[in-house]
Amino acid sequence: MLAALCALACVFSLAACGSDKEEGKIRIGIKFDQPGLGFKKAGTYVGFDVDVAQYIAGKLGYEEDQIIWKEAPSKQREAMLQNGDVDMILASYSITDEREKAVSFAGPYFVAGQDLMVRKGETAIKGPQDLNGKRLCSVTGSTSAVTVKKRFASEVQLMEQPGYAECATALFSGIVDAVTTDDIILAGLAAQSRGRLSLVGRPFTQERYGVGIKKGDKELARRINDAINDMESNGSWQRALEQNTRGVHFKPDARYNPPVPKEGE
Ligand code: GLU
Repeated sequence: MLAALCALACVFSLAACGSDKEEGKIRIGIKFDQPGLGFKKAGTYVGFDVDVAQYIAGKLGYEEDQIIWKEAPSKQREAMLQNGDVDMILASYSITDEREKAVSFAGPYFVAGQDLMVRKGETAIKGPQDLNGKRLCSVTGSTSAVTVKKRFASEVQLMEQPGYAECATALFSGIVDAVTTDDIILAGLAAQSRGRLSLVGRPFTQERYGVGIKKGDKELARRINDAINDMESNGSWQRALEQNTRGVHFKPDARYNPPVPKEGE
């Protein structure tokens, strides 16, 4: 009887089926394919976003084994929060006015900048000023793709992929001339390329990474911001960043980091 009712409920509410909400657990959306930030490695999850998420979850009263990690691809983040598939998202998720129409953010907990990644030996691309006639790859639903369309639409050809790892593959094989997104993401991918890919190092935006939550949950935003403040002031934030960018050619911009988290909308 209960099963039949459940099945019926599912027909009417897809959200109820997708959200495997479990008592005493917190569901957190991260990236699974961004080394250094959110990366799935032999069934474990590692990276700076993962460490910040774990710290926040701890402050909210959840142990490590009470966290359910879910993959949150760029394009699906707002929908995942709106459907209640996850309780929060830490997935290189920039705070923007557009996104704040659908979800709320705590943070920021990091500030990155959009940059370019090219093949080793590339001499023609030294910054965003050199993109005329170039083929670029970025990810659907990212601010990176939006910025390309807004600023360089007339001069570049943009290929969109579901993730940045796919873009790196396209760059290796010569299908595109550059990959564009946040410097910290590109640095992690370049570090895994055994010297075959490198960053241009001329960031041209500011990406404030927020913790995405359901729209309007001010109390949760406040508790998350308290946790971020804590993490920054006791040295855990710095340690997590260093550990996750070790051996990677990347220095966070000290003018903006660590950022001061503000009250969520
Ligand atoms: N931070 C940018 C964004 O939120 C690019 C990285 C990403 O796609 O996750 O869209």
